[in-house]
Amino acid sequence: MRKHGQYKTDCPFCGDMRQNLELNAMKNVFHCWVCDAGGGLVKFYALLHDVSEDTARNTLFPLKAGQRRFTHPALNLTQAELDEIGFELGLIHKRPASWSPQKWGQYRKRTLDWVWFEWKRYNAWKKQFNRRIGRLLEQAEHTSSEGEQHVETERTGAR
Ligand SMILES: [Zn+2]
Repeated sequence: MRKHGQYKTDCPFCGDMRQNLELNAMKNVFHCWVCDAGGGLVKFYALLHDVSEDTARNTLFPLKAGQRRFTHPALNLTQAELDEIGFELGLIHKRPASWSPQKWGQYRKRTLDWVWFEWKRYNAWKKQFNRRIGRLLEQAEHTSSEGEQHVETERTGAR
């Protein structure tokens, strides 16, 4: 089955045969609705071949001689996490033909730094937000009966 780069197939990890594994070829992510296995392309390969994610990465994206791999922490975020902060890593997947590798490297590093900065800020904000919501819920418990009465009055008034 195919819909906008989405594929459904049997799950090789839990053996599900009713096509509960979803693959998204646009975002390079997968998720099984039965065993909850999920992640990106590297993780898929690692699980499938029972190797570490480092090995999977090196197999999928082999380095040229003398090249060193620089793994930016932002590259470990899943697309679902990136969605929360409004990023799409497709931004840094392919170097435009007119750009030098140096320019591309700098752009890529800057973009990843930015993504990582936003992710850390978002999490700090989320923590603060959850604490605030917790306090509001506590307060709401004391005043909830009052609030319901108010809504009831409005409904009656509209009739
Ligand atoms: Zn599964």
